[in-house]
Amino acid sequence: MGSIQSLKCRECSNEYEPQFKYICEECFGPLDVIYNTSTIQKQTLVSREDKTYWRYFELLPISDKCNIVNLNAGFTPLQYADRLGKEIGGLKKLYIKNDSVNPTFSFKDRPAGVAVSRAKETKFKAVGCASTGNLASATAAHAAKAELPCYIFAPSDIEHVKISQALSYGAEFVAVDGTYDDANRVASVIGDSKGIGVVNINMRPYYVEGSKTLAFEVAEQMNWRVPDNLIIPVGSGAMLNAICKGFEELESLGFIDNVANMKIIAAQPDGCAPVVDAFKRKNNDVIPVERPETIAKSLAIGDPGDGLYVLKRLKQFNGIAEEATDDQIIDGILMLAKTEGIFTEPAGGVSIAVLRKLIEDSKIDNDETVVCYITGNGLKSTEAIMDVLPKLNAVKPDVQIVSAMIR
Ligand SMILES: *Cc1c(COP(=O)(O)O)cnc(C)c1O
Ligand SMILES: [Zn+2]
Repeated sequence: MGSIQSLKCRECSNEYEPQFKYICEECFGPLDVIYNTSTIQKQTLVSREDKTYWRYFELLPISDKCNIVNLNAGFTPLQYADRLGKEIGGLKKLYIKNDSVNPTFSFKDRPAGVAVSRAKETKFKAVGCASTGNLASATAAHAAKAELPCYIFAPSDIEHVKISQALSYGAEFVAVDGTYDDANRVASVIGDSKGIGVVNINMRPYYVEGSKTLAFEVAEQMNWRVPDNLIIPVGSGAMLNAICKGFEELESLGFIDNVANMKIIAAQPDGCAPVVDAFKRKNNDVIPVERPETIAKSLAIGDPGDGLYVLKRLKQFNGIAEEATDDQIIDGILMLAKTEGIFTEPAGGVSIAVLRKLIEDSKIDNDETVVCYITGNGLKSTEAIMDVLPKLNAVKPDVQIVSAMIR
């Protein structure tokens, strides 16, 4: 049996039975899952054969293992990035958490897998999501495996590949002529009126728990030592906040210590950087961006649900927020690909570009440990870099001609 105990309001600490509820009745604050952790042993978790994020079952919000919808996501590589570290300015201890190799090719398999499992456990008849692109496929794929209908609400201008991928898993795709925030608003009303478990809206307390495993895996892969710096791309901010919660849970279990020494870095594209803007203005007013304009479409959330909590986390963890331009994002994508053999979509390019900026500004020292989260796969948005890659001209299959081309 799992150890989920209750839902607790992040603002007023009111506690609720872990049922279908996503905002506090008293103060409308968001709810977080609380566990009964008294019997959880590190040895039990890490001795498991299971090389997926479900190896941390006791710290995930599912009561009965038979409700797990498993596509074998997670436990992705933590790659020692000596080549990139050197190239980017002499970093000696840089690691890439390569989450681009999940079953649907982004980290969203973590929150979506957990939320769809919980939807199955609580007997929902359908699931869905509001998506900037990657969550669509992650939710649709898990829904397919769970034999649940799936409804996607996403802006119509997201990458074509992301639409074809989600449709292939059998989802109903509502392409909204508007921004992500428009799609989110529609999904929120439809979800509640039609009884759909919308993973990142009315299932959000459970959804965010999946992203926590990005902390658990890094801690385990680093042999239970806490890295000095984490670089995390921010859209809604749910992932960043969940990663912090994950490290805190491990510390309260006694698996790790010195979590307070960790520095959290939030990375956003300059065409949609409401959190970075608030951070730089030094206040807690996250002013929504009406019309996000960036090649990092998966981060194009103008009104980030967890923006305020990202700012709180940055305060708690001596954090920094920084942004990157489209050109810097493209440089970041190519630099990661050419040094480490990892091809990421623009969200990952944002992480690399921000890392580079912080090294240039001497905000990270060469001998500090840095973990950079690469959250999505480059094959999903080739449009973004096509223009800067060499143009190919077909040649005759003639050995002499080809031989003359190669120095
Ligand atoms: C959704 C997404 C993010 C941002 O996650 P949030 O929880 O919305 O902050 C980052 N990278 C990729 C590839 C994503 O799809
Ligand atoms: Zn409350």
